[in-house]
Amino acid sequence: MAVKITDVCINCDSCIDECPATAIVSASDSPINGDTTYVKPEKCIECSDGTTPKCADACPTEGAIVWDLPYTPEYNAYYVAGHESGLYNIREHKKNGIMFPEISPKPYREAVSIADRQAHAPVNA
Ligand code: SF4
Ligand code: SF4
Repeated sequence: MAVKITDVCINCDSCIDECPATAIVSASDSPINGDTTYVKPEKCIECSDGTTPKCADACPTEGAIVWDLPYTPEYNAYYVAGHESGLYNIREHKKNGIMFPEISPKPYREAVSIADRQAHAPVNA
């Protein structure tokens, strides 16, 4: 990933149009449940080419957008396990299979510590 949206999200959808990677979908389009706005980890680039994550800039709700682990091969097993448990629903590519980090890694912010990511610290803390 990436970033992740938690269950304190109020589904205002302000973040959706701000995402340069079209990684965010509304609750009604969520591939994991119909309850919460969802970030597709296989698409999120952490806005790593800019100064701040644009979704978090637009979000009015503290703690709704949190850090998740980098979407890189090193954390492939984490995303496979999350996909299998229903935490994520990673897109399947017709030719390449499920787009796990090993198949399609994404840029991430090296400045954000792994400890903060594991703790799912708020992006706007
Ligand atoms: S961090 Fe950037 S790329 Fe990732 S979901 Fe938020 S706006 Fe989209
Ligand atoms: S802007 Fe924040 S509260 Fe609104 S849908 Fe996105 S994550 Fe949820």
